[in-house]
Amino acid sequence: MRILITNDDGIYSPGIKQLAQAASHFGEVRIYAPDVEQSSMGHAITHSRPLSVRRTPGLPVEAYRVNGTPADCVALGCHLWSDVDVVLSGINMGHNLGNSMWHSGTLAAAKQAHLLGIQGAALSAPASSVEDSNFSPLAPFVEQVLRLLMTEPRPPLTNVNFPSEPTDLRWTRQSVRHYNGYIVPAKDPFGREHFWFGVTPLDPPEPGTDRHAVEEGLVALTPLRLDLTDHEELNKMLLAEV
Ligand code: MN
Repeated sequence: MRILITNDDGIYSPGIKQLAQAASHFGEVRIYAPDVEQSSMGHAITHSRPLSVRRTPGLPVEAYRVNGTPADCVALGCHLWSDVDVVLSGINMGHNLGNSMWHSGTLAAAKQAHLLGIQGAALSAPASSVEDSNFSPLAPFVEQVLRLLMTEPRPPLTNVNFPSEPTDLRWTRQSVRHYNGYIVPAKDPFGREHFWFGVTPLDPPEPGTDRHAVEEGLVALTPLRLDLTDHEELNKMLLAEV
């Protein structure tokens, strides 16, 4: 089994090292990851300048850094390393729950794999759990999730979020709730006004969703698809046309 590892926090993030270590129990592992942080870049790709791929020492497996986005890393990695079976992205330092999926570079890497016909999964955890050097509460659950994802039937695209101290796993759906979209004005050191963008959901999470599971201390696994078509609305409009 060939496992390509990437992330959006950059190749020097502690999360990618932990994921590569866990994945190496399941097959041959290689890292292709952004050279700098690319969080919230979503599914951006680089097409107006060339990309470089540089061998990067100091990681537990063969690793390459790319001066591009997470989706670039997957596209390039799967081109340079043939017959990749699965792409794992993470472990992101911070959750990618509910609406965050629209902005997530971590998930975009897994989506890019799916676009290429390769199984993809994104893994995210609270930043403090990933930073913790002993990584102890999460490690057995990361192992369990990887085993689950790599056993038939293998879900083609999965978004995984860990609570800080998991007790069990749960298959969930995406929580889609409105943001309050707050913006916080502040001043830079030269007195110029600038803004911070906030993304806090308005409503409490609904049972059955990823947000709800993580709040209950469960690892949330959400199977995803790339077709955004609203089939109910489509059928309604097609009928109205007649
Ligand atoms: Mn990130």
